[in-house]
Amino acid sequence: MDIVKGNMGWIEVIVGPMFSGKSEELIRRLRRAEIARQRVQIFKPVIDQRYAVNEIVSHSGLGIRSDNVRTAVEVLERVEPRTEVIGIDEGQFLGEQLVEVCMQLADMGKRVIVTGLDTDYLGRPFEPIPRLLAVAEEITKLLAICVRCGNPAVHTQRLVASEELIVVGASGTYEARCRRCFEPQLAHEKVEAEKKSASEGVTEKARTATAS
Ligand code: ADP
Ligand code: ZN
Repeated sequence: MDIVKGNMGWIEVIVGPMFSGKSEELIRRLRRAEIARQRVQIFKPVIDQRYAVNEIVSHSGLGIRSDNVRTAVEVLERVEPRTEVIGIDEGQFLGEQLVEVCMQLADMGKRVIVTGLDTDYLGRPFEPIPRLLAVAEEITKLLAICVRCGNPAVHTQRLVASEELIVVGASGTYEARCRRCFEPQLAHEKVEAEKKSASEGVTEKARTATAS
């Protein structure tokens, strides 16, 4: 953002599917703030334990130290008065209060930079990120590369049999897919297939039991 007078705060949001480079972009912005000798605090939800504990790590291995929090309210509690820039990774895991917390921090004069998934594994808006976009000063939407066809990918394809909203994992659990290659029904089909093979297994066992 240019032309910000006085110590006015604001909200920047970086969205897109998994593997689109959100963490990399967040790390880049925070590094630059540190080079400018601004006071930076970085938070990530404790739910995402991939690769490291007190660090945000991108899929390409880039890292920056961070503090673990469970909720957005915890971010508010931990922010020090002198902090000028606040980075939050994986905002979709910090609960509904993320929006109010970011607004409060911006109103206090802080630059808040948040990354998050804007859609879930079914391609539906992933709250509270869409609401955060509505109140942000600046939005960056990144795309990944579709692993099937090489086109720009807007979707996070779940590859495992689960219909929970939150299933943490990286490669092997999810991959980037374009609009054309996205299969939102895949997770459901896998769950059904598992149920079917389990019940066939039970029938098979029952048959063996009767036979013996
Ligand atoms: P995000 O935070 O959006 O999940 P990251 O910043 O952690 O993304 O990782 C982005 C990096 O992931 C890319 O720079 C690239 O090295 C790697 N990568 C792996 N698979 C893909 C893909 N399908 N499309 C784009 N980048 C990918
Ligand atoms: Zn594709």
